[in-house]
Amino acid sequence: MKTKFIFITGGVISSLGKGLSASSIGCLMESRGLKVNLIKLDPYINVDPGTMNPLQHGEVYVTDDGAETDLDLGHYERFTSIRVGKKNNFTTGQIYESVITKERQGKYLGGTVQVIPHITNEIKQNILDASQGCDLAIVEVGGTVGDIESLPFLEAIRQMNVDLGRENTSYIHVTLVPFIHTSGELKTKPTQHSVKTLREIGIQPDFLLCRTDREISQDIKSKIGLFCNVQADAVITARDLSHIYEVPLAFHEQGLDDKIAERLNIWTGAPKLDRWKKMVSNLKNPKHEVTIAIVGKYVDLTDSYKSLNEALTHGGIANSTKVKLLFVDAEEIEKEGTEAHLKTADGILVPGGFGNRGTLGKMQAIQYARTKQIPFFGICFGMQIAALEFARNVCGLKDAESREFDRSTKNYVIDLMEEQKSVSQKGGTMRLGSYLCTLKPKTLAKTLYKSSQVAERHRHRYEFNNKYRELFEKKGMVFSGVYEEKNLVEIMEYPDHPWFLGCQFHPEFKSRPLAPHPLFSDFIGASLRASLEKKTKVAPKKSQTRASQKKDLKIRVEQYAVA
Ligand code: GLN
Repeated sequence: MKTKFIFITGGVISSLGKGLSASSIGCLMESRGLKVNLIKLDPYINVDPGTMNPLQHGEVYVTDDGAETDLDLGHYERFTSIRVGKKNNFTTGQIYESVITKERQGKYLGGTVQVIPHITNEIKQNILDASQGCDLAIVEVGGTVGDIESLPFLEAIRQMNVDLGRENTSYIHVTLVPFIHTSGELKTKPTQHSVKTLREIGIQPDFLLCRTDREISQDIKSKIGLFCNVQADAVITARDLSHIYEVPLAFHEQGLDDKIAERLNIWTGAPKLDRWKKMVSNLKNPKHEVTIAIVGKYVDLTDSYKSLNEALTHGGIANSTKVKLLFVDAEEIEKEGTEAHLKTADGILVPGGFGNRGTLGKMQAIQYARTKQIPFFGICFGMQIAALEFARNVCGLKDAESREFDRSTKNYVIDLMEEQKSVSQKGGTMRLGSYLCTLKPKTLAKTLYKSSQVAERHRHRYEFNNKYRELFEKKGMVFSGVYEEKNLVEIMEYPDHPWFLGCQFHPEFKSRPLAPHPLFSDFIGASLRASLEKKTKVAPKKSQTRASQKKDLKIRVEQYAVA
């Protein structure tokens, strides 16, 4: 089958959830048996989001092939079975870089290089390259219609309708229909204006996904359709929902997948959504609840930890448990102490991060988790800080530091690898993407992964310094995962504790709602155990094996659920 294209644009305001809409359509069309792919075009000039502040841009999502991409790519992987890579996300910066390189190489044969056709051709070629081999490519254009910087992208996708034919291309516009409290009405004017702007540049949308906080009546849909030159039944309500994974089901109820198939003349099977529906029902009807404290720096904008939040939710699904997230600013712990911020936590997690700010607070949180036997999960920076805490407070190396902090010491427990020492450029130079991790027998990691080798994604510059491995091991730390080729520590765990594990990679990037990541599932399981122990006041016996602890827990979980 020839590849068909859906182009998704957004209007009125940003943050309308275009990425979620694109992912949900991907989920539905894949459930009908199509091979889908999703592509994100970002109009900003940065070559990739790797150098941007997560507070502005949200999380940087990392792919297997080591691309630092927009966080929407995380949704693409969570809602479908695709594996995204470098080709699935490109920016104005990348497009211009490539056109200018070609110009310097004399590839334009003396021509004047212009936005149309050279930039637009480059955009079209990138879209075509990324969508090779799939039945349906869903292409999301970042930004909002009307922005100056997205114009070349919109022009390129407009041209693709002419190049490929109307039966192969469809346009979906995500827009806002706000409810105005003073008049008690839903307002359609912002949508009318946004579609007008889109039509001025030659794009007529086939479907409108109207973001709203309530149902949109048939009357209003007809009015929107009339003013926007769209059929009333192609005006879809995209209501705020309590869980993002409900979105595909809400679109399906309105027949969106059927209508897209019809519009693009695609013959597909009926959608198979049973597993998805079951997962959503699990999510909406939890039997238990746990509170996980996330101790970090970027806690003001939870988008900075998007994949992490999702992976914790997936861990909750695996345990029929609602996961309440308690975002704790590490600097507040420095000021007010651990007890004030962490006493309600059933599990403590220190996520990835950069720079010195708040590290002391993170270390205090880890010490609190370690000494009070509270489940602890350290991810990337979180593992590095856990290593410093252990070095300082258990191994007696009071001056243990990470080379990242620029403080001179004899004991760089976290250090730079030789090859990183010569790196001067910031963008794209960390240890990025998928690396193999070999697991040590009879460890928690090995038991959870049920495999002796796994591949996980990385994004960091610093590593555990092997000089300190022996000392750590003597004090009871176990290095349960190693990247053998370079002998780098990937996972460390502390068995003299209910659940204490740090990993140098980011497991959150590989967790899916239909396939929760084993480390997250078990961390939530252990936190649930801790929470039930608090409630039922039964502490596990120290000599108990993990298996019997789990069996005990199962009994308590059942008792508690009934009660
Ligand atoms: N700042 C640390 C490093 O570069 C950890 C990075 C991270 O947590 N992703 O090694």
